[in-house]
Amino acid sequence: MADRDGLIWYDGKMVDWRDAKLHVLTHSLHYGMGVFEGVRAYRTDSGSTAVFRLNEHTRRLFNSAKIFQMKLPHSFDEIVQAQKDVVKANKLESCYIRPIAWIGSEKLGVSPRGNTVHVAIAAWSWGAYLGEEGLSKGIRVKTSSFSRHHVNVSLVRAKASGYYINSILANQEVTAHGYDEALLLDTEGYVSEGAGENVFIVKDGVLFTPDLASCLDGITRNSVIQIAKDLGIEVREKRITRDEMYCADEAFFTGTAAEVTPIRELDDRPIGEGRRGPVTEKLQTVFFDIVAGRNPKYAGWLAPV
Ligand code: PMP
Repeated sequence: MADRDGLIWYDGKMVDWRDAKLHVLTHSLHYGMGVFEGVRAYRTDSGSTAVFRLNEHTRRLFNSAKIFQMKLPHSFDEIVQAQKDVVKANKLESCYIRPIAWIGSEKLGVSPRGNTVHVAIAAWSWGAYLGEEGLSKGIRVKTSSFSRHHVNVSLVRAKASGYYINSILANQEVTAHGYDEALLLDTEGYVSEGAGENVFIVKDGVLFTPDLASCLDGITRNSVIQIAKDLGIEVREKRITRDEMYCADEAFFTGTAAEVTPIRELDDRPIGEGRRGPVTEKLQTVFFDIVAGRNPKYAGWLAPV
């Protein structure tokens, strides 16, 4: 990733991609307290590029920083504009945008108090996170032996760098055995989320997703709930057990990177017919229409670059 042409917004300036560096004694590198976002921009049918739910992602970034008492040295509007500028400066159309804020290298005690806070934003082309085939055929998921965060261990409204150790452990564990992605349970054994995705099931026409106790308040999750309600599909947020998932008619993951990815199998049990189900397909179609600017009702979710 480091050796390529391009521009990265770094502490308020566009710098050459290869020069966007930091010191090895950076506090966040040692202790994991960085906050970041994953955002996508899409080329719309009119030929312009638009960022999907840019304000919501930026708000979550600022809330993540607030949770850790990190004072971002830029305003909300500056970070919104900077994300658009990065897409433009790199002449990108459909792309992934990665804003990150971290604690500087002034001192390395555990307390970050007094250290500087830095922000960088990069953007690059990134296709389907769980594969093009995954989007149409569905993926194979395995429940990880690692539990998701407990509310009094991690503060899961934040999207924080260090939390991804847990995601990596789970993902490594299952991909080593040929599965596409991990499902994590909370510390009580209820379904929480994927390693980098929220999870949904469909049963008898109703859409279910875990409540927000241990999973990230995903922006794609929020979008899919809104879309489903607008389509007249009942949505319930509740605790979900593993066997409820096994017996579901359909299941899918949502995420900025994963978009809407059907789950065709969990723990070697086919979900429903073992392929993308009709409700998932409908939600996927509406989602991809929205991001491509084909659904005027949701035009407010798109921020032109
Ligand atoms: N859960 C986790 C752990 C994630 O990393 C992500 C990706 N940001 C999500 C859920 C989905 O969130 P969003 O739809 O906002 O990308």
